[in-house]
Amino acid sequence: MHILSKSTYIKGEQCEKALYLFKNRPFLRDKLSMEQRAKFKRGTDVGILAQQLFPGGINMTPSSPSQFSKKAVETLNNLTNPAVNVMYEAVFQYDDTLIMLDIIVREGDKWRAIEVKSSLSLSPTYMKDAALQYYVLKGCNVPLSDIQLMYINSDYVKNGDLDLSQLFVFQSVKDYAEQYQDVIAKNITHFKDIIKQPHSPKIPIGNQCDTPYRCEFHGHCWKNVPNETNRPYTIDYKTLYELIGNRNSSTAYLNLLFYRPAVPLFDGDKPYTEFIIAFSILSNNGNFDKIYNWDCLEDLSKWKDCLDILTEQLAGFERVICFAPQNIAASFQKLNLLDSKELNYKILNLKDILQQSDFRHENTKSDFSLQNVYECVFPDKKLFEHSRIILNALSDNVMERNLITNDLEQENIALRDIYKKVINI
Ligand code: SF4
Repeated sequence: MHILSKSTYIKGEQCEKALYLFKNRPFLRDKLSMEQRAKFKRGTDVGILAQQLFPGGINMTPSSPSQFSKKAVETLNNLTNPAVNVMYEAVFQYDDTLIMLDIIVREGDKWRAIEVKSSLSLSPTYMKDAALQYYVLKGCNVPLSDIQLMYINSDYVKNGDLDLSQLFVFQSVKDYAEQYQDVIAKNITHFKDIIKQPHSPKIPIGNQCDTPYRCEFHGHCWKNVPNETNRPYTIDYKTLYELIGNRNSSTAYLNLLFYRPAVPLFDGDKPYTEFIIAFSILSNNGNFDKIYNWDCLEDLSKWKDCLDILTEQLAGFERVICFAPQNIAASFQKLNLLDSKELNYKILNLKDILQQSDFRHENTKSDFSLQNVYECVFPDKKLFEHSRIILNALSDNVMERNLITNDLEQENIALRDIYKKVINI
């Protein structure tokens, strides 16, 4: 039975207390956020696609945690079986540490180890992951030709069927991993000692709680920190009013759902090309709210229809207010939306405006999201995580997909309410 795994080892590098709590008090973990679930799903989808580049492999994924040791024995047996040339999720165990390797491929009398990443570049954390895998593989006496990270080629342009040999790029991390072996051996010994201690290590909260990942024991460790979240927000009204301009202009609130698939869907697209898959527009018509919703979730190839519909629906407004992490005007420019003669509105990104106006509140320090801003401005109300919309939009379940219309509307109403409350109209 193993004591450490790749994820617990990485946890130990981030914070020894997080490692201790995970092994001894796992019930203290925070709930998995929607954003983490969305990231996890993206990684899984790309991993399955990557396997197609090495077809005919045996999937070694254990059906339950109790099967890990059995699968580790089977993996070693397969290495010496000439009928096996590729394994997915192969299980290796050494020095009480268990790893699952995305892909391992026979190359002559050696094996090439491959770890798949759904990103466009490699981070130091990915390199360390691979160094740990190399340590375990070497400990299991696997004859390795190389250990590589396989990730997405940012220059790939789809043209017809997906060309997996062009979509992915490989980088050897063997030399890096070699240099890191002594450190890993020492860390593993140290981490095993930590886990056996009767009490969790006394580590104060700090930067490590969010770097490189948000720690899942945040709720537990930060619960005694004096609660500043009940204090009202502060803002520089002079700057705010300058940035807002004429408050009596005719206004539409726009909530756009962008999609950036790791794997390009349409010809001419690169990985992570951004396009619009749904939107909601809220305006006021006399005493009534007017709402217009659109999406192409049942057929993403129809996404360009949104350009004409947006043009038509937004014509006549003097300003369009949204809340987005990206530069919406630049996104519209790319989609040729702003060149349309019918449009003469000004786009205001309330997120930028609030940040430039020095909007401050404890809740928005780590994440300036619509949800957090809304809950600062209306402390007695709650809004859902935006990632819920992304997860539902990409769900295979039609009922979950149908939920996004209402959620986009609710976010748009929250945006309108923030705007009106903050600028006091
Ligand atoms: S919240 Fe911070 S101090 Fe607590 S376990 Fe996580 S990283 Fe360590």
